[in-house]
Formats: sequence, structure tokens, C-alpha cells
Amino acid sequence: MDNYNVLDVKTSFRTQFVDLTSQIKQLVARVGIPKGICYLYAPHTTAAITINENADPSVVQDIIKQLDKLVPWQDNYRHTEGNAAAHIKAGILGTSQFVLINDGQLVLGTWQGIFFCEFDGPRQRKVLVKIIAG
Ligand code: ZN
Repeated sequence: MDNYNVLDVKTSFRTQFVDLTSQIKQLVARVGIPKGICYLYAPHTTAAITINENADPSVVQDIIKQLDKLVPWQDNYRHTEGNAAAHIKAGILGTSQFVLINDGQLVLGTWQGIFFCEFDGPRQRKVLVKIIAG
């Protein structure tokens, strides 16, 4: 048996941020530890995990738009698979996040949500979640 939980994430577009906040909150509640750390890890090279505003969806749209400007899909990359931009964007945002747990709940700011960031979809993806008491 794995000592972590696996969330399956199905994406529908090449670039897509999937809000996992409520799923991860439910998981933390089910595990039921009062204090600790929730570690989130995406075992992929063209996807990332980020924490940002989930109240106004235009924030995510702006992030996606600016990442596209910063790292265009076509730019004479050496990586021949054709998805170099996705690898670079995943590298910029990173594959993991830590969130503290207090009183049995994730410690997130009022406007913060946890997003899985797809940069080379649509694909079937996974997020590994390790909840550590302490
Ligand atoms: Zn590639």
C-alpha cells in the first residue's frame, strides 16, 4: 500500500489550471490529523502545482496569458518532441507545494486555492498527496 494518496486529474485542454482545493480539503479532513503538513507533488515534466487566487477566475486567465507570452509554443526549441514550452512553464511554476495543516484544516489565505497546472494536455494526470502529522 502506498503511503500517500493519489488524485487523478483529467485535463481537457493544452493549457488548463484545475482547482483542486476542495478535493484536497476533503482528503485532509478524512485523514483527520490536527496539525501537520500537506505535501503535493505532480510526477510530470509538463505540469505543475501552484497556489494562487481562485476567487476571481480572471487571475488564472492572466497567469496563463502571460506565461504564453513569456514562453511561446514555437520558438526554435531544441527539444524535438514539440512541447518544450510546456516543460519550461512546468519548471517555472514547479512540481510541488507544501500547505500547513492546523485544527485539522489546510492553512490557506482567504483568496488562495491550489491548482494543478496542465501545460501539455489534454492528458490523464496524477497528483500525489502526502499528509504528515506533527
Ligand atoms: Zn517533451
